[in-house]
Amino acid sequence: MSTRTKRVETVLPSPPGHWVGDGFPVSSVISPQAVGSRLSPFVLMDYAAPARFEASGEPRGVDTHPHRGFETVTVVFQGELEHRDSAGNSGRIGPGDVQWMTAGAGVLHEEKHSREFTRRGGTFEVAQLWVNLPARHKMTPPRYQELRADAIPAVALPGDAGTARIIAGDFAGVRGPAATFTPVVLWDVRLRAGARTNLPIPDGHNAAVFVRAGSARVGGEHDAKAGELAVLSRAGGGAVVETDRGADLLVLAGEPIDEPVVTYGPFVMNTAEEIRQAVEDVRAGRFGRL
Ligand code: MN
Repeated sequence: MSTRTKRVETVLPSPPGHWVGDGFPVSSVISPQAVGSRLSPFVLMDYAAPARFEASGEPRGVDTHPHRGFETVTVVFQGELEHRDSAGNSGRIGPGDVQWMTAGAGVLHEEKHSREFTRRGGTFEVAQLWVNLPARHKMTPPRYQELRADAIPAVALPGDAGTARIIAGDFAGVRGPAATFTPVVLWDVRLRAGARTNLPIPDGHNAAVFVRAGSARVGGEHDAKAGELAVLSRAGGGAVVETDRGADLLVLAGEPIDEPVVTYGPFVMNTAEEIRQAVEDVRAGRFGRL
């Protein structure tokens, strides 16, 4: 533990993009290949930067697929998503909304542009995080939290620096609505031009600051521009962020889960044997049906 603020260990560039299904042109800002377990409990972060979709008759997205052993957290900035899963949950989330889905023991789901968005066309911008579950909770029953924009508290940053929407974790006594299995912080931060602020990220948490728009100086010396991820030290409490022309940030942090991680496609488990079991269980229809 440390009395200092967090340092920047590295600024990761925006990786080359790829498509997820036919609906999401993403960049895998966090991936096992890029960061290993360095940002545990975060396994993956796919970011779909603002992209224009023309009006169409057929919703784009990802067809039915399984997940086991972790949570998918989908943050919509622009556009509208529709979701349904084998646990019987379904919903539609738009700008400012967050879907926190616990796959746990296993779900099948589909993720699509909403029918309304598809009909009208428009700009889509979304982030999806994969948050790992500790071994003792990997086979927890699936759960679905739909966090509407109006249920996510916004905190005014001191000195008129901007605002922070608190999706998960505690920010100066304001608690985000997401229920999590381990301590997780997720903040949607907008900084005004000329702002300087100290984001109260807990000491001992792995943490990163993703720049969605604009540019920011993190930890007093490292510049990060749109699409880049500043990876912070585990030691130290708080992260100093400054911006000349303004910045939109996604701040993520969490208590590390100190367990082996084996990923394979849509599964995040602790051992290769558990991965084999997951593949077999999907094949045998044990994830239910959609
Ligand atoms: Mn999925």
